[in-house]
Amino acid sequence: MEDIHNKGERKEVKTQKTLNTFASIMGGGYGVSMSSMIKRATAQLSEDESTPDPALKGVKGGNCNRAACQKPNAIWYNHSTRKHYCPSCASLLNSHNPDAHTMFGHALCTPSED
Ligand SMILES: [Zn+2]
Repeated sequence: MEDIHNKGERKEVKTQKTLNTFASIMGGGYGVSMSSMIKRATAQLSEDESTPDPALKGVKGGNCNRAACQKPNAIWYNHSTRKHYCPSCASLLNSHNPDAHTMFGHALCTPSED
């Protein structure tokens, strides 16, 4: 003859055991494999991401001088920074610096010529 109270106690014990198992999974092997997974993912990311060559930054025909851009095809010359920019950044810089016309007699950025 089992009473309801006893059943309830047994259930509590079982729940505690499940929690312990779960905790050992979380704190044990799972945690280690998780951090190694992150490490691997980070390594993969830095490999896949083509890091712009610093030597080409702002160089004519190299990468755009704008830090946030650094796209190739930097064929526009900025007469203020004396560096080269991609066409889209050059037009952006020109539109933000209308005063360049009074300073240089032309736009801040002009297509680079030999
Ligand atoms: Zn650019």
